[in-house]
Amino acid sequence: NATRDAQSVAVIGLGRFGRALAIELVDSGAEVLGIDTDEDIVQSLNGVLTHVVRADSTREAALEQLGIDSFDRVVIAIGSDIQASILTASLLKRRGTVEIWAKAISEQHGLILEQIGISHVVYPEADMGRRVAHLVRGSMLDYVRLDDDLVVAVTQVPGEATGGAIGELQLHEKHGVGVIRVKRDGRWMPVAPDTALVSGETIVVIGPEKQTERFCSLSP
Ligand code: ADP
Repeated sequence: NATRDAQSVAVIGLGRFGRALAIELVDSGAEVLGIDTDEDIVQSLNGVLTHVVRADSTREAALEQLGIDSFDRVVIAIGSDIQASILTASLLKRRGTVEIWAKAISEQHGLILEQIGISHVVYPEADMGRRVAHLVRGSMLDYVRLDDDLVVAVTQVPGEATGGAIGELQLHEKHGVGVIRVKRDGRWMPVAPDTALVSGETIVVIGPEKQTERFCSLSP
């Protein structure tokens, strides 16, 4: 079956982030090579990932030996050792590795990675901090930012979304958002124009950030 998914991924640095990432990749069916300098970490993931090796990614010979160029994607998940992260990025870039993803622990770190030419720089801690802020505020049960101006939120039905078929409440016109799912009997159901939401139900809302926030904060 043809798929657009990467079949093989090398994950360099198996700390908390790299480890979770590598395991999730294996679970989703990818072939994963994990690389770390720490022997205990390598041992603990033996048999969990497709391959795990102890190696230093700042040594070009090591990268060569691991056949790093044959992987569809390479993820640099080294954070605290910024120097190792940057050196690895620079080596991979020089080798012509195309699909490189890298985690940055600060804006400066990310900026350098981008300057080296890494096209996919992720900021897991900053992103998670932002996400949790929305949960802490209280009106959202879950929150995912898809774009600068597109978010998906899980929330309790606000009063504005009850009292009639969803197609007639003009939520998009009045609030700029759409309701795409409702939880009924423990299962997520699609929302059709004739669906009538009931107070107390949990829904999935999609829309621009500010409008979604405002909509979710309306009283039930
Ligand atoms: P996290 O915050 O996700 O735990 P860390 O930066 O603390 O991330 O962990 C990064 C991991 O990368 C550690 O397990 C460390 O041993 C590993 N690491 C650091 N430098 C290298 C390197 N040059 N080559 C391979 N692995 C490395």
